[in-house]
Amino acid sequence: MFCELDLQNAVRGPLDRRSFLKCALASGAALGGGAALASVAQPAAAMPAAASESEDDARYVVEAKFYQKLANRKIKCKLCPRECSVGDKERGYCGVRENRGGTYYTLVHSRVCAAHVDPVEKKPLFHYLPGTIAFSIATAGCNVNCKFCQNWDISQSRPEQVPSHYMPPKSVAEMAKQYDCPTIAYTYSEPVVFAEFIMDTADAGHAAGVRSIVVSNGFIQQDALKEAYGRMDAVKIDLKSFSESYYSKVVTGQLKPVLDSLVTLRKMGKWTEIVYLVLPTLNDSDAEFRGLAQWIKANLGADVPLHFTQFHPAYLLKNLPITPVETLERAKAIADAEGLHFVYIGNVPGHPAQNTYCPKCRKMLVERVGFTASEMLIKNGKCPFCQQPIPGVWHV
Ligand code: SF4
Repeated sequence: MFCELDLQNAVRGPLDRRSFLKCALASGAALGGGAALASVAQPAAAMPAAASESEDDARYVVEAKFYQKLANRKIKCKLCPRECSVGDKERGYCGVRENRGGTYYTLVHSRVCAAHVDPVEKKPLFHYLPGTIAFSIATAGCNVNCKFCQNWDISQSRPEQVPSHYMPPKSVAEMAKQYDCPTIAYTYSEPVVFAEFIMDTADAGHAAGVRSIVVSNGFIQQDALKEAYGRMDAVKIDLKSFSESYYSKVVTGQLKPVLDSLVTLRKMGKWTEIVYLVLPTLNDSDAEFRGLAQWIKANLGADVPLHFTQFHPAYLLKNLPITPVETLERAKAIADAEGLHFVYIGNVPGHPAQNTYCPKCRKMLVERVGFTASEMLIKNGKCPFCQQPIPGVWHV
């Protein structure tokens, strides 16, 4: 997010890169902790329709890629499984796409509301360039409304409700290089809803020798997934539960399209890791952990890293306690017993299940302290002790 001083500058005009990054880096701890820039907590879709275009809008407004024109200047959005039907001068559920006279537009191309340099382990990706940093960006908006969202202040806001900065794709790639980041990460809110921006930025990054990673809920249509995530070098999917009823009540989404996304990513050969945030009483049963692990093994294989992460009360679920460590250890024990090779426990600093162990000889191969890979022993993609191949992308 932006610091106060540069927030004022942003209103007046473009920030220079140095002051933007200075503030972004200074506030690096804020995201994920629910820093409040916007005061609105209700879903974007519940908010009034857009105001008229301002001069600034033109920089951010780009025709959407995934939609279908209908009669009477209506459109059907084909980006995510919601398939919003949107009338003229209205927006879809995510609040960042608008129908103007029968043509559908994204309002958040190059409209960055958060930028930080994070360890790649914070995404978390544990088998992708460990010990490196990612130039991480977000726009406003999301296509679901998770009751536990840590970043609800940007994900559940409309673009004009959060301070933003104009950062076109080439500029993002340049800044990533300037800060020695081998990757650009699309994260914090939901990159599905700024798909056109991530596609163009990934292309600009690749042209400059910078890779792209996406941190997503995976709630996206298949064609859009192939086109947008096909440009990514690694993907992290938040699989929020293994139950349709949880997806319906707690996420306002659907499980099936997310599972389909994971299978397609696997077929596309994208490096993918899965995070499962464990909420006490809501998605923490033995049966759900077992069903999840069995499905992953059968459909994606035993080598896909699975991270069980600790919930901290936030947004609309402040009544729930922090996930007990014993619950996370129970989840891991079940997934291990089902035969998954790389099951991690996340958000519990110092826990030994944050390290990577060889699935054959059980020796520790990557030691992690907080978000830092403090020791990395994997050589040429193999365990140096028994030569077992360890799946992942280990070196730049
Ligand atoms: S991306 Fe937005 S507008 Fe499109 S279907 Fe999903 S929620 Fe609706």
